[in-house]
Amino acid sequence: MANTLGIIKPDGVRRKLVGRIIARIENAGLILRGMKVLQLSREDAERFYAIHEGKPFFKPLVEFITSGPVVVLVIGGHRSIERWRDLMGATDPARAKYHTIRREYATSIMQNIVHGSDGPETAGTEVAFFFQEDEILPKE
Ligand code: UDP
Ligand code: MG
Repeated sequence: MANTLGIIKPDGVRRKLVGRIIARIENAGLILRGMKVLQLSREDAERFYAIHEGKPFFKPLVEFITSGPVVVLVIGGHRSIERWRDLMGATDPARAKYHTIRREYATSIMQNIVHGSDGPETAGTEVAFFFQEDEILPKE
């Protein structure tokens, strides 16, 4: 019953997709345990995406993720990590399954609308990156 981190990236916020994305989370039976609207600084973004440092897309990714506000979400429920990744779809929207968020809304491999933690370890550190313990609803 681990929580995972979701981010609605600046393209999703700009295109007014926040409500639709949250509806998918609710409709899937996942549980919203925390939510904030934030503008990431360059330092925040570089730290959050540190694992991608040195890759060719790192600098443009930092530019993109700081280009406007994001919505950060704590998503819980049974198998939340895998189920949120399934709702998102593959990184490259051209390869994402039909009816996934990225397949339906992403415009490129970079501007792909949403982020989701990729495993239990990253879920823990990524949730803690944005949320204090007392900003997350306790598990029932
Ligand atoms: N990204 C990119 N080009 C790539 C791979 C990734 O611009 O070739 C961006 C994209 O926004 C992606 C983020 O970097 O969501 C993090 O990459 P990762 O491989 O962790 O993909 P994710 O876990 O988001 O599916
Ligand atoms: Mg990733």
